[in-house]
Amino acid sequence: MTSPPTTLDPTIAARLKRDSAGLVAAIIQQVDTREVLMLGWMDDEALRRTLTEGRVTFFSRSRQEYWRKGDTSGHIQVVKSVAIDCDGDALLVEVDQVGSACHTGERTCFLTGGDLGAVVGENQVS
Ligand SMILES: [Zn+2]
Repeated sequence: MTSPPTTLDPTIAARLKRDSAGLVAAIIQQVDTREVLMLGWMDDEALRRTLTEGRVTFFSRSRQEYWRKGDTSGHIQVVKSVAIDCDGDALLVEVDQVGSACHTGERTCFLTGGDLGAVVGENQVS
C-alpha cells in the first residue's frame, strides 16, 4: 500500500489562481438538490485534504487554521466531486451535507443571510 500524497498534485496546484492570502473560494453545493450551501476558502493543503479524505476541509481566514467541517458540530460534508472553474479562482465542491451547513443551524448560509430584495429583471433586454 502506498501512502497518500502529502502535497497537492502539482498539475492541480499550477491551475489555482490564489488571492493575496493564498486562498481560493470554494462554493459548496448539495449534490442531489443543488442547494448552494455555503462559501468557504481553501489553500493548497485544504484542497489536498478535501480531494483525498472524503471530507471538506477549509482554511479559516479569521483563525488562520485548518477547519474540517463538522468536526465539532457533527454537520459533516461528505465529498462527492470537486471541480475548478475556467480561470482557476474558484472551486465547486459537491457534497452530501449532514444537518445544517450554516453554524446558525440553518440549512444554508444564504437562508441565514436572507434575501436582499433585488428588483426582478425581465428576460427580454429592452
Ligand atoms: Zn453560515
